[in-house]
Amino acid sequence: MLDMAQPSIGDKVKIKAKKASYEGILMPRSELSDKEHIVLKLNSGYNIGISKKDISKIEKLPENMETKSPKTRVKVGKGLPKLSLVSTGGTITSKVDYKTGGVSPFKTGEELLAEMPKLAKIVQIDDIIQPFSLLSEDIGHKDWSKMAKEVYKELGKDKEGVIVTHGTDTLHYTSAALSFMIQDLNKPVAVVGAQRSADRGSFDGQMNMLCAAHYCLSDISEVAIVMHGESSDEYCIASRGTKVRKMHSSRRDAFRPINEEAIAKIWPDGNIVMSGTQHSERSSGKPKLLDKVEEKVALIYSYPGARSDILEHYIDKKYKGIIIAGTGFGHVATQPLDKKDSWLKSVEKAIDSGMFVGMTTQTLYGTTDSMIYSAGRLLKNAGVSYLKDMLPETAYVKLAWTLGNFKRSEVEEKMLENITGEFNGRIQPDSFLY
Ligand code: GLU
Repeated sequence: MLDMAQPSIGDKVKIKAKKASYEGILMPRSELSDKEHIVLKLNSGYNIGISKKDISKIEKLPENMETKSPKTRVKVGKGLPKLSLVSTGGTITSKVDYKTGGVSPFKTGEELLAEMPKLAKIVQIDDIIQPFSLLSEDIGHKDWSKMAKEVYKELGKDKEGVIVTHGTDTLHYTSAALSFMIQDLNKPVAVVGAQRSADRGSFDGQMNMLCAAHYCLSDISEVAIVMHGESSDEYCIASRGTKVRKMHSSRRDAFRPINEEAIAKIWPDGNIVMSGTQHSERSSGKPKLLDKVEEKVALIYSYPGARSDILEHYIDKKYKGIIIAGTGFGHVATQPLDKKDSWLKSVEKAIDSGMFVGMTTQTLYGTTDSMIYSAGRLLKNAGVSYLKDMLPETAYVKLAWTLGNFKRSEVEEKMLENITGEFNGRIQPDSFLY
């Protein structure tokens, strides 16, 4: 039947099956699909698999979706407020090629705005600055510096703000890195991703981009992650770049502020409601770029039975700093039944070797405190820095940045200084599971 109708991948077809007829775009077979089904993308954006045995007719329809040039569908809004867009990869700025089934990044602002017509109505984005296109799990320290350089350059231009698009897995590491690397920020910087791809009806990228654009037109001068605030398409939240974390692998409202409320709720129609969370305002000042990083830093997790040889490994490899995501108030084993399982000796050895050892909590919510239990006191006496309520990921990024940009003798003090809202001395009860 397919041979007779002769549709190509990407053509619009009508399939008559046992219970109903379906119209949609003929999709390529993915590695995971079986040979017994034909896959169509329906108008809703969802895909449907139709069993071959149920099909009585396949008809190719005249309209070929793929040949429609996006450029003919939208006029790029000239005269609207201008924003910069730094695109680094991930689902948010990818489009599906229905001929190959693969995804590729948008290349121009026009192409992106064509796919996001609502965005084209409120802002003008002329070019996409693309330092690289990577899955975010492949992004490393040097890539944070590259992104910071590009954002910094854009901040000096005649633009209202900067949107950075990025894969979601490590989005919160990048938002922290940009928060530290660009000091005295003068404009809004929105860091945005999408949890669902553009070929799905539940694509969240367009609404996240709309909210990010409204954020960039606001007076909030912070690096913030701007993404869905709840799983429906109601509103987004802007969460401070150093106090936010991916808390779900698939939900669209996965990015949650931790230990403070989101700075603002943003509706896709441009309505912004501030939460009262402290933030900086847009200014005419000039930002500073501090984009160096020390790569010999690590983030390790404490768990029952964890052995201190983990730490010995980093001492041998001459690491300059370690962040421990400790249990509870910030603990690792210090007084186990078998004394040789205590971490204290290795911690002392690490600190003697010049390594910075910082303690955070794997509970994420709440703060570390070295004074409550003997383990904390022993570790603090050994020279561990207790990093209050700073998130483990933020502390890891901050340590790489601090060791890269300051003298070793300044590192302890810098790690405990509230540089860009990474500490919250007054954690509001309402911020728990916000
Ligand atoms: N692992 C991918 C990334 O984080 C997922 C795609 C996405 O979240 O955009 O880049």
